Amino acid sequence: MWRQRKFDLIVVGGGPAGTTAARYAAKAGINVLLLEKDRDIGVPVRCGEAASDEGLRIFVEPDPRWIKSVITKLRLISPNGRTIDVDLKQKGYILDRRIFDYDLAQYAAVEGAQIVCKAYVDGLLFDGDKVSGVKGEYLGEPFEVKSKLVIGADGVESRVGRWAGLNTVVKMKDMESAIQKTISGIEVNEHRFDFYMSREWAPGGYLWIFPKGPNAANIGLAVSGKYSRFRSAQRYLDDFLQKTFPDGSVVSTTVGGVPCDKTLKKFITHGLMLAGDSAHMVNPMTGGGIVPGMRGGMLAGETAAEAIKEGDTSEKYLNRYAKKWHKVGGRNHERFYSIKETVSKLTDEELNSICDAVEKIPPEERTIGKVFRKAIFKKPSLLVDVMKVFAGV
Ligand SMILES: Cc1cc2nc3c(=O)[nH]c(=O)nc-3n(C[C@H](O)[C@H](O)[C@H](O)COP(=O)(O)OP(=O)(O)OC[C@H]3O[C@@H](n4cnc5c(N)ncnc54)[C@H](O)[C@@H]3O)c2cc1C
Repeated sequence: MWRQRKFDLIVVGGGPAGTTAARYAAKAGINVLLLEKDRDIGVPVRCGEAASDEGLRIFVEPDPRWIKSVITKLRLISPNGRTIDVDLKQKGYILDRRIFDYDLAQYAAVEGAQIVCKAYVDGLLFDGDKVSGVKGEYLGEPFEVKSKLVIGADGVESRVGRWAGLNTVVKMKDMESAIQKTISGIEVNEHRFDFYMSREWAPGGYLWIFPKGPNAANIGLAVSGKYSRFRSAQRYLDDFLQKTFPDGSVVSTTVGGVPCDKTLKKFITHGLMLAGDSAHMVNPMTGGGIVPGMRGGMLAGETAAEAIKEGDTSEKYLNRYAKKWHKVGGRNHERFYSIKETVSKLTDEELNSICDAVEKIPPEERTIGKVFRKAIFKKPSLLVDVMKVFAGV
């Protein structure tokens, strides 16, 4: 019985970061327990469910069972209603995260990780200044389980980091307030992402239509915390839906925060690592956190296994994980943050003028790179940030 055992690693949270961490750690031969507070892995879904084929393939072979739509085009809609279509070089997907997350958990279990749902973690155990396990409640009964290491993958509302003394505060302006409704009984292009860029629809963020087949879509928006206190994200979305899809049926609603922030300065301490949203690993420019969360989970899981084998779970040893994260994606992550900062300050007039310029590129020659080049021409201060991302310097 898991409550009586001692584990090498306990992972808190069964989202993409947690299940991926558990999978790679178990695969490397250590014993792993994953605790999830909800009754089912993958539910409730708080996500637009968009992910790139290239990003997913780092970890898994995309499975048709999870894929609701294959995306090959992107449409930008400017504040004055002009539409710009761009062919994507790499295809993307709209997933069914209930099936996707469940399968990620399955992969971890197949590698030998033990997964327990309805296990709510409400604190950490310490041995001196070192984290040495977790405590919580399972089916109304309190429990304490010891481990050599803990990975906190408890999402945007993470408390594991705080319990360990890490500073996990997100500045109000970097916490995007997101709301999304899945609308059914409408007609959408099932192979296209639509993004509305306007202060009128989503100040400091954007509004998306992500198709789930030809007759349904995840329609949502994220508004910077700087603006959401004046008018709620819900009101922005309801206005849009009323104007655009007045007869659609709302089959689900989800709200949540997206930390569009730099990765935490410190996401490691003695005996503990954070991964995914809990460490602010979301791409701050797009708000996409599935693939970055899986990347953080994989690196944390692999580092956990190495640390256990070396018998060293000190902060110094675990810092290898932070170094790997910054090497693989972290530095670009900081640059995406700078681009987000510049783009979120563009006025509707500037966005209109960028779209006017992009429209002059013949459709068959439009690429994301060319759209950026036009944007830079209109807003030269973007140049420094964009150059750094593409040059990887
Ligand atoms: C409206 C919205 C739309 C989004 N759209 C996209 C998108 O299209 N594409 C994309 O890539 N990203 C999107 N994101 C972001 C994406 O959903 C997250 O970045 C991603 O789910 C992060 O994975 P994670 O494993 O870090 O956290 P989560 O998926 O949040 O998983 C954390 C898990 O920890 C569990 N947990 C929390 N506390 C405890 C506890 N005390 N004890 C036990 N378990 C606990 C939770 O129940 C949860 O299952 C969106 C987010 C929102 C809010």
